[in-house]
Amino acid sequence: MNIVLFGPPGAGKGTQARYLVKKLNGFQISTGDILREEIKKDTDIGKKIISNMNEGKFVSDEIVNSLLKNHVCDPRKKEKLIFDGYPRSLRQAKNLDLLLNESNQKIDFIFFLNVNKETIIERIKKRKILENRSDDDLDTILKRYDTYIETTRPVLDHYSKNLNFHEIDGSMEIDQITNKIDTFLNV
Ligand code: AMP
Repeated sequence: MNIVLFGPPGAGKGTQARYLVKKLNGFQISTGDILREEIKKDTDIGKKIISNMNEGKFVSDEIVNSLLKNHVCDPRKKEKLIFDGYPRSLRQAKNLDLLLNESNQKIDFIFFLNVNKETIIERIKKRKILENRSDDDLDTILKRYDTYIETTRPVLDHYSKNLNFHEIDGSMEIDQITNKIDTFLNV
């Protein structure tokens, strides 16, 4: 089963992705983590993306799509993909459709965790203390939210008419969101 977790930064996609990985024996495909790993390892890609990431801007579709391909086409991960933070643009959504199609896969569920701006700011401030992420300061949070509204929200139109698209109130407690997801999965 392949699942896309969709929503603004701070919506709880990572938390729910980790839950689903355990439950379904799946693989979390967090493009944010994949990109942070490139920076940590100081690769050529890492050097190219560090300033964009620290400023809360998107990394180019070319770079993200190329890093994603290895995961989607990995036979070990087939039908066990839990996407967290991808796709974030229409081009990425179309790229994902193509890659899945090529490997005879599909998206089984899309969960849109919907959260308002005020809740996001409060949550990311807390995460900054817990995880000390360099892109979690207030200016960057606001920039990331604006980028989400401009570039990522249009992806909703791409998905929202699908029968496997489900909107969930992401301001609920973690357990309540998990329960909601479980109800839709019915497994
Ligand atoms: P995240 O950990 O998902 O909040 O992502 C952290 C940062 O990584 C974002 O603010 C972007 O700079 C970058 N990033 C993560 N995923 C993507 C993506 N799918 N497309 C472009 N940039 C991304």
